[in-house]
Amino acid sequence: LGADDLLASDHARVTDPRRLRHLREVHRAAVGDEMTLGIEGGLIGRGRLERLDAEVAEFSLRLERQPPAPLDVHLLLALPRPRMLARSLEHVTALGVKHITLLHTRRVEKSYWQSPELKEEKIHQHLVLGLEQARDTIMPTVTQETLFKPFVEDRLPGLMAPESAVKPRGIIAHPGMPQECPRAVSEPVILAIGPEGGFVDYEVEQFMKAGFEGVHLGERILRVETAVTALLARLG
Ligand code: SAM
Repeated sequence: LGADDLLASDHARVTDPRRLRHLREVHRAAVGDEMTLGIEGGLIGRGRLERLDAEVAEFSLRLERQPPAPLDVHLLLALPRPRMLARSLEHVTALGVKHITLLHTRRVEKSYWQSPELKEEKIHQHLVLGLEQARDTIMPTVTQETLFKPFVEDRLPGLMAPESAVKPRGIIAHPGMPQECPRAVSEPVILAIGPEGGFVDYEVEQFMKAGFEGVHLGERILRVETAVTALLARLG
């Protein structure tokens, strides 16, 4: 449910047409049904559907638990082809990353940036699928950087030197790097993953100059969505 749907700690009311349609058509919900409900950014509880019509759904609610803690990871993902983007967003949201930056790099096809999959509403749908899968409610933020150059020069240094005391660890995944991807990292991580053709040398240099460590995931070259899942599973 959206954060605004929670009217009191024991009562929620849904009026968003998309959520109502989802309840009726996907869940085939009926009055009296009990279901697990997640409140975006908040708690998870058991709800009983008390009313359902074309305009509104009302639940009585018993809040039960906090969502699982997110991984303290800011993912810099070179924009994958649209079909792979949808699945990658779903997987990384289910694994619990905090922030996602979709980044242009030399080997990202320019046409990918025109994809309808990048519309805010579409991205939101993929994130919601990931959250529902993981029984989570904390939505990652997603930003789009359509140019590599001002991003690495202007914003990346700021991400690497935040105002908070804990400096994040920058990690760039690139086949053939001498170091293996670390396991169970406790500090915040900024993780860069390349496009289907990989990062070009100049891009690797820019990340290294910003203080990133280059890491590999073994001899197998993995598709973006597999690599991102494997990396997050190791870091988490
Ligand atoms: N031919 C490209 C290359 O050699 O860089 C392969 C790119 S791979 C399909 C897409 C991205 O997934 C890479 O840029 C990297 O970030 C990540 N990746 C895939 N397999 C990897 C591995 N074995 N080690 C490190 N990163 C990997």
